[in-house]
Amino acid sequence: MKREVRRSCGFGCVVCGMPIFHYDHIVEFAEGGEHAVENLALLCPNHHQDKTSGRLSRNSVAARRANPHNLRRGMTPGYALARGEAIETHLGNLIVKDGEGGEDFHVLSINGNSFLTVHHEEGGVTFSARLTDDEGRTLLRVDHGSLSVSTQVWDYRYEGTRLSIRTEAGRIALEADFTDELVRFARGLFIDRNETGLRVRPNGSLVMVLDRLEVGSIQGGRMGRYPKGALAVVRESLFSFPLHPDGYAFARIIPQHAERQLQRMKGKLTREKRGSSEPA
Ligand SMILES: [Zn+2]
Repeated sequence: MKREVRRSCGFGCVVCGMPIFHYDHIVEFAEGGEHAVENLALLCPNHHQDKTSGRLSRNSVAARRANPHNLRRGMTPGYALARGEAIETHLGNLIVKDGEGGEDFHVLSINGNSFLTVHHEEGGVTFSARLTDDEGRTLLRVDHGSLSVSTQVWDYRYEGTRLSIRTEAGRIALEADFTDELVRFARGLFIDRNETGLRVRPNGSLVMVLDRLEVGSIQGGRMGRYPKGALAVVRESLFSFPLHPDGYAFARIIPQHAERQLQRMKGKLTREKRGSSEPA
């Protein structure tokens, strides 16, 4: 029932759309309100407080519940995540430490575009990220610490530190934890318009995605801060590597492995296609 409330409210506060919310009984139990989908509204902490204190009337909440802010929009408005002094980034089992000050640090870039960046700014450290579904549509976007999610998903929850998105029943597309010290993607996909990118699998391994095929696998490890960035996926060279001369095994393992695997899979697809158009 709670999912139906989340979905029908557009995965955010019915008044302002904020993707952080409480469940509010529009008419309280004590006054005869029912524990039913229609009597439950999502409200952000501020608007929940306004309702509780009487500054926001029950009638207004009921009116917004009937026409929620987010249902007219593809993405929720931004929610400002807490800022810390330093961020440790986890992509599955890959841990990227970033304790240094200075310029932007690219944790993951795909074909030259950053998909996960740590920013050192006045007043703390923030990050930017974009995660997608299999078609490259944005599911979650963080812009300098301001978090928005797609309102077109099957379910979205953000409870405690854990954010999760389901694109259909039983299919978790994204799981992440955000605190002021930790950015962790336990599951998710980053792909660009060329269908090139990286998938974080639930077992913690990272898989390159090329033409929607999954090639090569990285088990992870701990990395420091490299001058140009931590992890890059480059389509032409089929590389996935830390941009550092004595980086980890990615550069040595992935290119051959990925290329071989891609050729094999493409060969298989071609054979299947030929097989279906030229029946024996
Ligand atoms: Zn609100």
